[in-house]
Amino acid sequence: MARGNRMKKADWSEGTNIKKQAGVSDMTMLSKITNEAINENLKMRFANADIYTYIGNVLISVNPFKDLGIYTMPVLKSYENKNRMELPPHVYAIAEGAFRNMIAYKESQCVIISGESGAGKTEAAKKIMEYIAAVSGGDSMSIKEIKDMVLATNPLLESFGCAKTLRNNNSSRHGKYLEIQFNSGGEPVGAIITNYLLEKNRVVGQIKNERNFHIFYQFTKAASQAYRDRFGISGPESYLYTSAAGCLDVPNIDDKKEYADTLQAMNVIGITLAEQDEIHCMLATILWLGNVQFSEGDDGNSLVADKGITDFIAYLLQVGPETVSKLMVSRTMETSRGGRRGSIYEVPLNVAQARSARDGLAKAIYDRLFDWIVVRVNQAMQARAESSYIIGVLDIYGFEIFDHNSFEQLCINYVNEKLQQIFIELTLKAEQEEYVREQIKWKPIDYFNNKIVCDLIEAKRPPGVFAAMNDACATAHADPKAADQSLGQRLNACTHSKHFMQYDGKFIIKHYAGDVTYETTGMTDKNKDQLLRDHLELCKSSGNSFLKGLFPEPLDQDSKKRPPTASDRIKQSANELVTKLMQSQPSYIRTIKPNENKSPSEFDDKRVLHQVKYL
Ligand code: ADP
Repeated sequence: MARGNRMKKADWSEGTNIKKQAGVSDMTMLSKITNEAINENLKMRFANADIYTYIGNVLISVNPFKDLGIYTMPVLKSYENKNRMELPPHVYAIAEGAFRNMIAYKESQCVIISGESGAGKTEAAKKIMEYIAAVSGGDSMSIKEIKDMVLATNPLLESFGCAKTLRNNNSSRHGKYLEIQFNSGGEPVGAIITNYLLEKNRVVGQIKNERNFHIFYQFTKAASQAYRDRFGISGPESYLYTSAAGCLDVPNIDDKKEYADTLQAMNVIGITLAEQDEIHCMLATILWLGNVQFSEGDDGNSLVADKGITDFIAYLLQVGPETVSKLMVSRTMETSRGGRRGSIYEVPLNVAQARSARDGLAKAIYDRLFDWIVVRVNQAMQARAESSYIIGVLDIYGFEIFDHNSFEQLCINYVNEKLQQIFIELTLKAEQEEYVREQIKWKPIDYFNNKIVCDLIEAKRPPGVFAAMNDACATAHADPKAADQSLGQRLNACTHSKHFMQYDGKFIIKHYAGDVTYETTGMTDKNKDQLLRDHLELCKSSGNSFLKGLFPEPLDQDSKKRPPTASDRIKQSANELVTKLMQSQPSYIRTIKPNENKSPSEFDDKRVLHQVKYL
């Protein structure tokens, strides 16, 4: 961990074209390390356009919200083969360190980038990828191809996985772990992407002035005439899923140009034209689903307002028109007696239920499409030769505390607790081992070990929050309200923990980063996250083999075996991620957002102090 820390510091005055740095560039050099002193130092540096600062092994990066001209090829090259202390702090120095350590110590590396939305994680991850592509060897075609593909994953996954939010015009709405695989000579031979927690709710609605995923605006603004004719595509104002939140354009985002980049990235990855047609057909289906409106019949049941739209969706999905119009307003139910199948009957849906079922289908198609793209990208980037080491780059949402927090925040904060746990284990363990090795006298640091909070969320026994949710889903499956109530009762089992409290319909978890109040309403349903049988049947009966392929699971699942819930999946992927990260030497980048206004000059002390505290 502390490799290189003992190197002599650079004498800045001797530097030829290095500009004078403000404050201290490594905050362990501060005479007094307090939150306030760190804040003051960052502020001074920010004013001097020094956005990068070390604090021991961690690189702090304050979002400049403007182009500082510090990512040019000459700057990049100046970091090559340099020790971290020889040059001003930079994200390139972190990338250089990871790359050289991998070669010198024959060890896999990872860079963990965290911070709030809009703080600069995605940009930092891209810079690391660019740096590694630029300095790693290999002029052979296959190595060049891998590098191009790795870089092409950025525009592709950004189009499908990023959106304009109030806080960030290009906000990643999923977590991503990219592993670049190297041969023993340090040449990239392949890469793997793992995707976490796509915010699929965004597909069907956004809060005012936010947008859906970028791809929908790119497609509707710039689709070819052939796609317009074939898929019924016009501008984004024509679809409720893209227009209801009242934001079609974003300053500094040119959707038409980005669409061209997206298509180009697809070509680089090797997504065939036929596959591109299918992807666009799925996007069109989703857009048209959002335009299906319902009216209320005399009996209180929903009716499709415009059958022309459901007929068009049937054409896109390659199923019979009646199948879609019926599916929109009713649901098949099956009675079961003592585990045996009973009779099947049809239940009409009221307008609210019909809307929610329609949205469910749109979300499912998008979620599966996104996964398909990730799988396809991984196929293309499959290692060309034996891989000896890996450099992983983790770009994942930071801790979230909102006014209303639900299942999504619980999952994100859980993953952050797990990452914090590795940080504690790896950093403090390595530091303390080094003190022992160097026979430095030390007192064990008394730190808060957040394993207790991880257990509170993920433990099977005594049941943690996820287990309580799973139990609630299993028992009260037909009625979401009853399931939420049952969750409330089951959560009583967690009150033994001093990090947990429960009161009317809410519970509080004391996370390492602060207390978060979660609302139980709707949680069990989100956790269950199950595709309606009718929807699955529809997709499986389609004449479109691409759509069928997105839904490979059997229609009749073993009713005795509970399908994995959303929390089962996040717990599994978080633990797999931890295992991978623990096998690598980590570097950390903490990104900080200096203000809420995307301003290059404003430094909001209170907001920064709040973020510094989590350091
Ligand atoms: P996050 O991934 O943490 O949500 P992003 O990396 O998308 O945040 O950054 C948000 C925006 O801030 C970017 O779109 C870009 O405009 C700006 N930004 C971030 N980092 C930098 C940087 N190093 N230099 C210039 N602008 C940046």
